[in-house]
Amino acid sequence: MISIGTVLVFAELQEQERIRQEKIALFTENLGYEESAHVVIADPDASDTIALNARWNKPVVTMSVTYDSTVGAELQQSSRERIKQALAPSGGSGSGSSSGGNVGGTVPYSGWNDLLYQLGKQSDKVPVLEYTDDFDRADIRLYLTNDSHPEGKVGFTRLMANKVTKEIISAEMRGFELGRLVDSNINAVALRHGIGHALGLSHASYPGSVMHPHIVTVNGTAIGTLGPCEENAIVELYIKGSLEPVSCKPGALAQVGLPKK
Ligand SMILES: [Zn+2]
Repeated sequence: MISIGTVLVFAELQEQERIRQEKIALFTENLGYEESAHVVIADPDASDTIALNARWNKPVVTMSVTYDSTVGAELQQSSRERIKQALAPSGGSGSGSSSGGNVGGTVPYSGWNDLLYQLGKQSDKVPVLEYTDDFDRADIRLYLTNDSHPEGKVGFTRLMANKVTKEIISAEMRGFELGRLVDSNINAVALRHGIGHALGLSHASYPGSVMHPHIVTVNGTAIGTLGPCEENAIVELYIKGSLEPVSCKPGALAQVGLPKK
């Protein structure tokens, strides 16, 4: 006779196997950047949208970083500090952004946790990011190197998710040429872009969005910010529970009945 406990364990193993088989790389990309001669930085119009891939089903999403042997100890330490600051509980103004200063839920947000904590006031389905030293068990694992990408790209992201439930299982990010880029805001924007994918966002058509398919630079400075595209994406994905593309138009929060603050 099979006890209930055995049946439950068997069912759990079956479930684990099912998830393992359905786990796929839902999203993979190599991220590049391009200089734009004329980008008008203005509010996105109603036609700009952002697409969505998948979502986490947990309140805290952990992230950690590791370095290969091309990165010296000093650079590792300063880089790790920047990443920890970028993942500070709310309003971390680190990460090398030159546009900082907007701390506390004003658009553009100063960092992902700033946005996530603000929207988390509306719903406990919105996760927050947390740095962990336990690299192997981190939800988002970032590998950094001084080596160049073969095609000159700055970053790489791969999102692993359950094909059926669209629940994210893990995310892998890679960053190249750390020594050259560590002090540039291209590096900070690339990090935010990768984290956006790791949170389940796809790309935005608005060039001023951090989730634009390419990092758009003007005079060598990346212009992508965490603004209405990202705000509306998190509302759609986590609060409304939809995977449909959503408008980047400011004020969409009001349309779903959520106050801005
Ligand atoms: Zn991308």
